[in-house]
Amino acid sequence: MMTRIIDQCLALDARATGIYSLLAEKGKDPGLRSFWLQIAENNEQHLVYWNQLRAWAETGYLDRIFDDPAKVLKDLETLTLRIDVLAEQAKQVGNLEKAFALAFKLEFYLLHPVFEQLLQYRQNLSEGIGEQIGYDRHVNLLFEGLYEHDLVTMELELLGETLHRLWQENRKMAILSNTDELTGVLNRRGLFNAMRHLGHLAQRNGNIAGVLMMDIDHFKQINDTYGHQYGDRVLKYVAATIRSDIRASDVVGRYGGEEFLVFLSMIAPDALKDVAEKIRLSVAGGNGAQQPVTISIGGAAGRIGKQVDQSLQLLIQVADKNLYRAKAEGRNRIII
Ligand code: GH3
Ligand code: MG
Ligand code: MG
Repeated sequence: MMTRIIDQCLALDARATGIYSLLAEKGKDPGLRSFWLQIAENNEQHLVYWNQLRAWAETGYLDRIFDDPAKVLKDLETLTLRIDVLAEQAKQVGNLEKAFALAFKLEFYLLHPVFEQLLQYRQNLSEGIGEQIGYDRHVNLLFEGLYEHDLVTMELELLGETLHRLWQENRKMAILSNTDELTGVLNRRGLFNAMRHLGHLAQRNGNIAGVLMMDIDHFKQINDTYGHQYGDRVLKYVAATIRSDIRASDVVGRYGGEEFLVFLSMIAPDALKDVAEKIRLSVAGGNGAQQPVTISIGGAAGRIGKQVDQSLQLLIQVADKNLYRAKAEGRNRIII
């Protein structure tokens, strides 16, 4: 199902490129032609991104992104039909103003939340790798074009602004669905998506992966003594500290109330303890929290087998058991 969804996205983007190329062909002056061509080329760059997602989908990484994949596919198919209508209209576009209105309509279709969700998914997993492709860039380009060609009408301007706002809202939604609002790290859903994905990669590359389960010590007491708001600040502080102590390629998520999970998709067997110790010490080091706070950590490392989900669950189980032992043995310590 996911490969069909990505194929549909590919097809939609290809049609968009086609429409912009058509507008370029029909453009009367050279400046205008190169303007539409620029957008067409810009659009073509999305192919790299879709192809990467396509490869991921084939391996099953993307299986759990959407709650209702069948509906997503249906939406995209409907969208394709609408864009086909636009493509027909593009052949007959008479004046420039109509061309811009058509382009805005096309961009509106491409602002479907599915695109942003997939984009965010890719962003979460490849921090720093690869450029951001943004559909907002097109809207901005179209805006610039409007001004350059002296075509600003109230309607077109409003259309552009509406699109921009819609894009911002989409983006916010896509981020919120994977992020823990309080701490800014991944929520459970985002965490499991990322772990599955990185787990598949680790399996394919034969890497050792590691899981660290962390739990704040006596957190209930912190809440009871200093209040819930203070407790929230401690949670933020701990999350930020963990984040700053791990690599960009590792992921951290809020596993439960005051529990965090770090997944390291490639770790030397002895290094897991060092990472855990670094985090334990910097949390206890305390700058950022007024009252001392400590965490206990349980860890597990191992190769990921063909049954990726099962291997991950096993690592979590062992890490959890070790965390329990770390608590029992006095807290503020690590057991791996
Ligand atoms: P231990 O050292 O054994 O882990 O003890 P603990 O007190 O940390 O563990 P316990 O599980 O008894 O308490 C966890 C507390 O975390 C209880 C719950 O109210 C609090 N908590 C969970 N989520 C939040 C949150 O979002 N904000 C705040 N302030 N507290 C939270
Ligand atoms: Mg707990
Ligand atoms: Mg606790």
